[in-house]
Amino acid sequence: MIVSRPQPGLLDRLYIRAILSGLRITLRHFFRRKVTMQYPEQRWAVPEGYRGAPALVRDQDGHTKCVSCQLCEFVCPPRAIRITPPGPDGPRADRPNAEKTPLEFEINMLRCIFCGLCEEVCPEEAIFLRDEYSLTSSRRADLVLGMDKLLEMGGVHHDRHLKWRRKQQEAEAQEEFPVQWPIPAPPAARRSD
Ligand code: SF4
Ligand code: SF4
Repeated sequence: MIVSRPQPGLLDRLYIRAILSGLRITLRHFFRRKVTMQYPEQRWAVPEGYRGAPALVRDQDGHTKCVSCQLCEFVCPPRAIRITPPGPDGPRADRPNAEKTPLEFEINMLRCIFCGLCEEVCPEEAIFLRDEYSLTSSRRADLVLGMDKLLEMGGVHHDRHLKWRRKQQEAEAQEEFPVQWPIPAPPAARRSD
């Protein structure tokens, strides 16, 4: 089958039609509301639940929440987290109901994929993905953030059981697998004698 191809006319060959079409679009946008943002002076208001860079948080008394359990380091897919535990002679936790605190805690933001697994597994609600989305530097070493910087980014987390409450709500929303909260105590073990 022979396909007939239309021959371009003079206006097409001189690009007059294309230029006029482009100018029409430009003119249309000229009178519309401007959406260009003067970044980085102006920043987006990120939506709630946005998963930006992970950071360590302090509790409502300003104490470090991380207890150096290393679960987040273990689960992190690109191995972006590096924790040095305190060891027997290292620093103790700065709060009464915890034993340990990391000697060093680093997150390599060049590796981090903002997956949120560290936040998911943390039993202490000590690490959260915050709304920071713009970490830039001209030196790679600057993007390996240490504990002080991570705590500064994370700030204070007043809502102590936010994560577990959210998980309860998610579980309640599932009809097939309802869970009870608080988890009821197990029945007393029967004596075998
Ligand atoms: S967000 Fe994901 S990739 Fe980033 S530190 Fe946490 S577990 Fe690792
Ligand atoms: S941030 Fe959470 S999971 Fe990671 S070491 Fe600290 S307490 Fe454990």
